[in-house]
Amino acid sequence: MNRLAGKTALVTGASRGIGRATALALASHGAQVLVHYSSGEREASLVVEKIREAGGKAEKIQAELGHEEGAHELAKRARTIIGGRLDVLVANAGVAVSAPLEETTLEDFDYMFAVNVRAPFFLVQQMLPSLCTGCSVVLLSSLAGHAAIGKFPAYAASKGAIDTLVKHLATALGERGIRVNGVAPGVVPTDMSSFTKTQAGRDFTLNMQALKRMAKPEDISSAIVFLASDEARWITGDILHVDGGSRL
Ligand code: NAP
Repeated sequence: MNRLAGKTALVTGASRGIGRATALALASHGAQVLVHYSSGEREASLVVEKIREAGGKAEKIQAELGHEEGAHELAKRARTIIGGRLDVLVANAGVAVSAPLEETTLEDFDYMFAVNVRAPFFLVQQMLPSLCTGCSVVLLSSLAGHAAIGKFPAYAASKGAIDTLVKHLATALGERGIRVNGVAPGVVPTDMSSFTKTQAGRDFTLNMQALKRMAKPEDISSAIVFLASDEARWITGDILHVDGGSRL
């Protein structure tokens, strides 16, 4: 269980959902975790508390990633806590405004690209001085990035951009021994995918999956832990589809 003993990790959007599960999973494998949040300070504190109660190390860290300088500020704060080296960076924070083409506003489009694309891009850039051989970066993509499901073309495009970014960052950072991969969940019942609270939403989800049960955040976090660990040492530039066999 101590695959990540002595390692430091930063998980963005770790106050809820998949990010929360990821912070807890990384900590359970021995990593010291920076639990990032934006508005959910109370939720982030509870995650930190849970990690500490289990004997792990964690700190909460705030930044609004929709702001122009959000990723820069987060990187600065993270460096003051971890000091020299960040072993695992999970860019998980994301927003999804569900609207078809006709109803997507400029504001929603820009906000989704700011949080989902600009923030991970500049977070990796700003954390570069702390990343070195053996470090692992995981960016959260989505089934929506490669399959035309649902009615959120702008969100889907932001995740398509992540898939492209994974390849470019993996190529650029490979010489330094830094691995960069994406994890593309299918539908996971969280605050983001509130449609799964309806029977119609659950039916839609189960119909497109090979495995006939609803996902849990822990189904995704275990894949992230794998990519963060040395067991995935020869995997980079890849997108791992963690979706119960959706839209095969
Ligand atoms: P979630 O439950 O809605 O949680 C979103 C997290 O992102 C929260 O911790 C939130 O922090 C943070 N966040 C949101 N807006 C932010 C902002 N402006 N600045 C900084 N942090 C912000 O979402 P989730 O379902 O766990 O999704 C996590 C990732 O998986 C996202 O990248 C999402 O696109 C991807 N994904 C999700 C699904 C799904 O079905 N759920 C499917 C495919 C991909 P605060 O609460 O502290 O503000």
